[in-house]
Amino acid sequence: MEQSKLIYTSTACDHCDSAEIDKILETARRVNLEKSITGVLYFSSNYFMQYLEGDTGSVEEIYSRITQDDRHTNIRLVDTASIEERKFADWAMAYIPQSDVLVPIHLKFMDSTEFNPEAITADNATDIVWELYAQLPSAHYEGSSGG
Ligand code: FAD
Repeated sequence: MEQSKLIYTSTACDHCDSAEIDKILETARRVNLEKSITGVLYFSSNYFMQYLEGDTGSVEEIYSRITQDDRHTNIRLVDTASIEERKFADWAMAYIPQSDVLVPIHLKFMDSTEFNPEAITADNATDIVWELYAQLPSAHYEGSSGG
């Protein structure tokens, strides 16, 4: 079965606080386990960047649901392509909140200390995700519900 990756950015809604993000993670991890989707959600400066990987049909289905979710706006599909193997095979949805540890990634790819979704393109998006992956041991947050 063909596997794909998908990367998008979005702007969190006004009421999207840490409790709301915990709820998003709880649902995401439950559904992603059922659908065998893996990946990472990054939240910084009130923006989301998410990387999804899995069977192409499942990735498209989950992304379609995500785009209908009122908890974020300005959803921009940055890149999607077939993949040979998964990067986040052990993560139903890793979560990385804003942290000083990640400022070097912003400086390298966005020429700013702040996360800037407009600087993310199909050419650099996967490299940014790989850098986030490298930071997972120190930057990952389980969420209040764990998982
Ligand atoms: P239902 O709970 O039946 O919801 C139906 C519709 O309403 C869906 O389109 C849903 O997007 C939207 N919705 C659900 N709850 C809310 C709410 N509290 N406020 C506003 N709209 C709502 N889901 C995953 O399965 N995997 C992911 O990786 C994932 N990542 C996400 C990342 C972000 C940044 C956000 C905002 C949401 C994410 N979600 C993810 C949640 C996703 O949008 C759906 O809520 C979830 O997949 C359940 O879908 P459903 O059709 O069963 O939802």
